[in-house]
Amino acid sequence: MKIYNTLTRRTEEFVPITPGKVTMYVCGPTVYNLIHIGNARPMIVFDTFRRYMTYRGYEVNYVSNFTDVDDKIIKAANEEGVEASEISERYIAECRKDMEGLNVLPATTHPQATKEIPEMIDMIRTLEEKGYAYRAADGTVYYRTRKFTGYGKLSGKNIDDLESGHRSEGHALKVAGTEDREDDLDFVLWKPKKEGEPYWESPWCEGRPGWHIECSCMSKKYLGDTIDIHAGGEDLIFPHHENEIAQSEAANGVPFAHYWMHNGFLNINNQKMSKSLGNFFTVRDIAQHYDLQVLRFFMLSAQYRSPLNFSDQLMESAKAGLDRIKNAVSNLKDIEKNAGGSALSEEEKASLEKAQEYKERFNEVMDDDLNTADGISVIFDLVKYANTTTQDGASAGYAAALKNLILELGEVMGLILETKEETLDSEIEALIEERQQARKDKNFARADEIRDELLAKGIQLKDTREGVKWSRI
Ligand code: AMP
Ligand code: ZN
Repeated sequence: MKIYNTLTRRTEEFVPITPGKVTMYVCGPTVYNLIHIGNARPMIVFDTFRRYMTYRGYEVNYVSNFTDVDDKIIKAANEEGVEASEISERYIAECRKDMEGLNVLPATTHPQATKEIPEMIDMIRTLEEKGYAYRAADGTVYYRTRKFTGYGKLSGKNIDDLESGHRSEGHALKVAGTEDREDDLDFVLWKPKKEGEPYWESPWCEGRPGWHIECSCMSKKYLGDTIDIHAGGEDLIFPHHENEIAQSEAANGVPFAHYWMHNGFLNINNQKMSKSLGNFFTVRDIAQHYDLQVLRFFMLSAQYRSPLNFSDQLMESAKAGLDRIKNAVSNLKDIEKNAGGSALSEEEKASLEKAQEYKERFNEVMDDDLNTADGISVIFDLVKYANTTTQDGASAGYAAALKNLILELGEVMGLILETKEETLDSEIEALIEERQQARKDKNFARADEIRDELLAKGIQLKDTREGVKWSRI
């Protein structure tokens, strides 16, 4: 697997810390509202990365956080007159629903900032002991940025050119009357509470953590001091990820992440889609017009680092593309059901071997920094091959093998290519087959068990001269 590493600005061969395993942390959303489709891009592309690595035999430990304490959450809570936690819990639940619709697998762990406060206090204390953090008169704790010699290595910026990047944060602090920072570049690790804000006890003051510290702590707690991959949208490179590196490496004394992956922006009219610009669609908006699988397919139609422009036209073409694949699967299923014999002819055997080349090609393009755009092209080519080679009839075995191949590659992309009904049908058919085998093996107990299991699912079996028939009751 080759990965473009933002840290080295090169495409590199992926070498995991532990052979066969991947530790990966993806910065998740701040939960104060429904997620927009820009937020869905990292979820989809890194979920696909995780699925692909799993399919290639890796065990992936995938952590993605929910930022559940933040100015925007507090503002939303105050506007509604509820606790901040009510807002964050509500939108975490909504986000999980969207993830399900997008077929984004739940992370191995989804930590939340508010549940990791003691860990954050510990890390800030370590930074203080090592001279990387200091407390200002009002209780704010700052990171002493210039003390970390590697600062700027991820974003490729020179520390002396960075002042402007931090100005907005500095400005907010000046407004708040906090000016005793040693340096404009120093960023906040812990801030004192304000009226109406959630707060926690700490050695410095009652308050809450700055944003960056949560990811350093959660990555350490759930994945270790050094991890394989850290990922997120490219807007996070600076300052968020740069600050995470400064915190983690100063506190732990070892490299933070070996590979840094960043997705390009989802744009609309060639402008970044964002809440602050007001030019966004929520995932929920899209769900009113399209199956969310279409949105997933659309996102994967570009390589993850390229910018991607959202438009109705592209969504329509994604819908048509996805339908083409689904139709092929459905046709192959029909052949499988209706074909007389299941044995493969010699010609079909040779043809199936040839079909494996599509899988090899798929692996090749996906190995190249997860080129999902080319991966989809390979699936289209395979669909074309399936349509052509079954056009004059095919055995059930041949159709089933091709169908399974398409489904396998679709699964890696996280695409659901069968309707729920069809998936159910194939589950039932698998159980019926198992029951037939059990009967052949004279394992009548298992055969009866399956019959009861199916009955519980509302499926009645009937043994006829033509074989077993099933119907819904
Ligand atoms: P936020 O809630 O703003 O912290 O964003 C959560 C994730 O979504 C981060 O990884 C961001 O980089 C990413 N993100 C936000 N807007 C976009 C966009 N328009 N295109 C791609 N990724 C985005
Ligand atoms: Zn983060």
